[in-house]
Amino acid sequence: MTDTTRLQLLESVLEAVSVGAVVLDADGRIVLWNRWMSRHSGCATHKAVGTELFDLLPELRGGRVQAAVTQALQNNFSSLLSQTLNRSPFPLFASPAAAARGERMQQAVAVTPLTLPIGGRHCLIQLSDVSMAAGREKLLREQTEMLRMQTFSDGLTGVANRRAFDVAIDREVRRAKRSGSTVSLLMIDIDYFKPYNDHYGHQQGDQCLIQVSSALQAQLQRSVDMLARYGGEEFAVILPDNDPRQAMQMATTLHGRIVRLALPHEYAGGPDKQITVSIGVATLAPDRHGDVAALIGAADHALYAAKRQGRNRIVAAPPELL
Ligand code: GH3
Ligand code: MG
Ligand code: MG
Repeated sequence: MTDTTRLQLLESVLEAVSVGAVVLDADGRIVLWNRWMSRHSGCATHKAVGTELFDLLPELRGGRVQAAVTQALQNNFSSLLSQTLNRSPFPLFASPAAAARGERMQQAVAVTPLTLPIGGRHCLIQLSDVSMAAGREKLLREQTEMLRMQTFSDGLTGVANRRAFDVAIDREVRRAKRSGSTVSLLMIDIDYFKPYNDHYGHQQGDQCLIQVSSALQAQLQRSVDMLARYGGEEFAVILPDNDPRQAMQMATTLHGRIVRLALPHEYAGGPDKQITVSIGVATLAPDRHGDVAALIGAADHALYAAKRQGRNRIVAAPPELL
């Protein structure tokens, strides 16, 4: 192969590849601008060649691309621009339609010094379209987040599910033991929910659960407080750092909120023809030796007492239970 054919071959390869290739001379003037660049920038090769890159694309001046070019030309350093910091530094578009929408392609940019026998140091800028890879990565991230949400949230009400509760109560009890603080737990059960379902139907029962849980959730102000769906129509609230008085206060607020919600319930059994809840309250104080099971057991015990005493009320577990 003669030198001329080899040169022609190289040139056709450069024109055919699906990456952008730009070569700058020592003064930052464009000496090579391949077809991929013309196609995606909308600037023809004959217009680009001979121009200074930062005159042609002034928005790149003072940015990371210019810093990388300076590094290559002056210090002989290569650089790869971070894709998270520089998603789309060049005004390049996948298609004319994307250009019309102003939707830039996401780019991987590498800047490499070239030492040529004549004309001093040059630099090569390679660009490639990573929109597809970035899109796939985004989709994967979203799917992962959705799976994580599904794993820890209740499908019907959207509040934390039993699994999330188990993890959280364990964490909060251990934290309380370590730091010598208290942790309180409320167990909340809807009264006469079976007759509600029987009378109004399962679908309306579901709606009732959604309304009750979102009304309860809205009352929790601190980010550390957690409302979880513990079972069918039973909810749990974890209140880190809350003593018995604060826990009772929260239980009163939540109980009152459901009263104000005033969801009609013809067959409530009691005189109030509306949905009510019973609440059991328990607190694990630093001077008690109880564990997670004891805390849940005490709150459950108190809830059972509230039911036995006639429902629609709050009962606190005696500290001896813990
Ligand atoms: P109490 O006042 O003693 O709490 O009586 P109750 O009728 O509320 O209690 P019980 O535990 O006997 O009934 C709970 C009912 O909750 C039974 C079940 O049909 C209903 N339930 C549980 N999960 C769901 C659900 O996801 N959707 C609907 N619609 N109903 C549910
Ligand atoms: Mg019930
Ligand atoms: Mg129940």
